[in-house]
Amino acid sequence: MGIKKSFSINRMKLNNTDSTIILSSPEFEDVDYNELKKFIKNLGFKIEREEDLLMRIDPDCFAEKMARIRILNPDKKEINETPFPVEIDYEKKNLKSKPRKKGIIYSGNHFINILKENYKEYLDIRKKWVIYLSDQLFATFEGRWHIRVIILGIPVVISVPGIVYGPARSREYYVSTQMGIPETDEDYIKEKDSRKTEVLKGYLLQAIYFYKCLLEGKKFRFCEDKTCALYNSHWQREIFSAQLKHDFCEKHLKEIRI
Ligand SMILES: [Zn+2]
Repeated sequence: MGIKKSFSINRMKLNNTDSTIILSSPEFEDVDYNELKKFIKNLGFKIEREEDLLMRIDPDCFAEKMARIRILNPDKKEINETPFPVEIDYEKKNLKSKPRKKGIIYSGNHFINILKENYKEYLDIRKKWVIYLSDQLFATFEGRWHIRVIILGIPVVISVPGIVYGPARSREYYVSTQMGIPETDEDYIKEKDSRKTEVLKGYLLQAIYFYKCLLEGKKFRFCEDKTCALYNSHWQREIFSAQLKHDFCEKHLKEIRI
């Protein structure tokens, strides 16, 4: 069943625009860009891989903006409006580091706004659908801050470490850790994990579907079907059934075929 559905995704006409998908990102040891490019090409899109777009940004201006969008408290909505010089300095250094450190959590929607301010013309969705794969952690506020894998905006931001730290592990895992039992045999996406490329394909489908909705004036909605790539996974086990398999459910397959 899985193979048959993948085959139909490969042959569907997801692309009815002239837009080119731009995949911009730093390098990750465990992300295979050639594989991701092939995947997007098979969907019928033109795809270009570009260098990390942050490398074209003014470091001084960017550092201050990044320091301002740090999340200070998981339960409080406010961000770091008045950063210390040492925080701005950290951002300036980290921008140039390879690999970058990732101990800080930023507001995802504010990050998209920073990119928008800096790349206004570049982000014209009639020409380019930019997907930025980030090496940083982002959260959005819904009662409290939640780490996210994907932030849907222009551009779409996908946090690669977010795959590890966003969707939670099972309740049993947290209970047994609290009780001092170090490991369960539960599977989850690790810091270095060869499955990340496959999981990213599922999130790329979300990004592409989001842009398609935007262009057609439709509201993007996540899918209720736990085996659909458009399902909003909150648990590691859900990533395995939704994004890792990167298939659409029957309803979305029908909607996407033209
Ligand atoms: Zn679906």
